[in-house]
Formats: sequence, C-alpha cells, structure tokens
Amino acid sequence: MSGTAEQKMQFLYALRSKGVTDKRVLTAMEEIDRGEFVRGGLFADRAYEDMPLPIACGQTISQPSVVGLMTQALNVRPRDKVLEVGTGSGYQAAILSKLARRVYTVERHRRLVKEAQRHFDRLDLTNVTAILGDGSHGLPEQAPFDRILVTAAAEDTPGPLLAQLREGGIMVLPVGQSDTVQSLIRVTRTPHGFEYDELRPVRFVPLVEGLGQE
Ligand code: SAM
Repeated sequence: MSGTAEQKMQFLYALRSKGVTDKRVLTAMEEIDRGEFVRGGLFADRAYEDMPLPIACGQTISQPSVVGLMTQALNVRPRDKVLEVGTGSGYQAAILSKLARRVYTVERHRRLVKEAQRHFDRLDLTNVTAILGDGSHGLPEQAPFDRILVTAAAEDTPGPLLAQLREGGIMVLPVGQSDTVQSLIRVTRTPHGFEYDELRPVRFVPLVEGLGQE
C-alpha cells in the first residue's frame, strides 16, 4: 500500500476499530493499494479514508471497513474458487485474489470491466479475471463456487447464485427492499439446504438487471 505512513496507519486503524481483525484480511488490505483504484479521479486524495467514493458509470468503490468485514465474513481459504458480483473499481476482487486460488468478478458496465482488468494486469494479479455480464445469473460456465460475494443489493438472494454455491460454500450479500439500507447476510450451503445469518445493516447500490450503457 502506498500513501504516507500516517495515512497507512490511519487506514489500518480504521479497519481494526470497525471490527476487521482477521490477520489474512488485514495483510491483503495492506498489500492492495486502494489509491491505485481511484487514481486520477476527483476523490483520489481521499483514497485512504474509510468512506465509499464515486467511480465511473455512477457507481462507487465501497467503504474499506465494509470491504474488510465482508471479506472476513466470507472466510476465504487458499484453495477456494470465488465469484464476485459487482466488480466496480476492482478493489474488492484484488483483495480476494490475495486470499483465494482463483477469482472471477462480473460487472454489467463494460468500461468498469476494462478498467478493473487493467488494474489487475498492472498489479500482476494473474488469478483474477473481470467479465462483462449480468451477475445476477452468476457465471454458470465456472460454477460451482466455494465462495460468492455480491457487492450490490438485491431484494432477495438470486436463485442462480444459490444454485452455483458448492456444498459447504459461503455467500455474503446485501439484501433488502430499501434503497437506503439493507441487511448484510451470510448464506451457508449445508447438505440439507441453506442457513442464513444476518450480519449488520449496510448501504449498497442496487443490483440491476441486464448490461449497462457504458
Ligand atoms: N466491489 C466494488 C469495488 O471494489 O469497487 C464495488 C461495487 S459497487 C458498490 C457495485 C457494482 O455492482 C457497480 O459497479 C454496479 O455496476 C455493479 N452491478 C450492479 N448490478 C449488477 C449486475 N446485475 N451484474 C453485475 N454487476 C452489477
């Protein structure tokens, strides 16, 4: 991570004070520089603050502590194949790439897919691929997944994502009917079905059907 030593310390302090305690997650977030994913944008100087920031296509890069808490709840293991829905800037997928064997991230805006893939290439993250598509259908050609992370809010858990979760697998996603606040939930696939835990309130942009204009 670049930024000044002071910025770096405050970034990590904010993560810990909001409950991100998993060492592997903290190390991955120290290694992946959030500044790279907002460079050249209007808010580049706020890269190390614990707040969501606007990116292209009217979307956002999530708040770092929320990225940390979601990644922690996903409990990624080194051999896992992970699907992320909602690539956005690519920041969350880059962190997942440090923890998992293979990461696929799906985004409905072509421009964001291209920019995210450029970041992955520049950072030499060879185990993560950004794909254009409507992630509410998952990525059937690479299923099943050990872990699924959704970073846009749906009214309910999309059925195709449940179907593409391996037995023993975990999915973390925001769900809810409101545009302003949703519940972050964790779904675990057991031999008998699905178990649901409600984790915390969150605020995400909506999961939208079909491809975007840009
Ligand atoms: N994970 C991102 C990051 O690290 O920057 C932040 C994601 S942003 C909060 C949510 C993203 O989900 C947006 O880029 C949006 O275009 C995308 N999105 C919304 N609906 C989608 C869908 N059906 N399929 C794929 N991506 C979708």
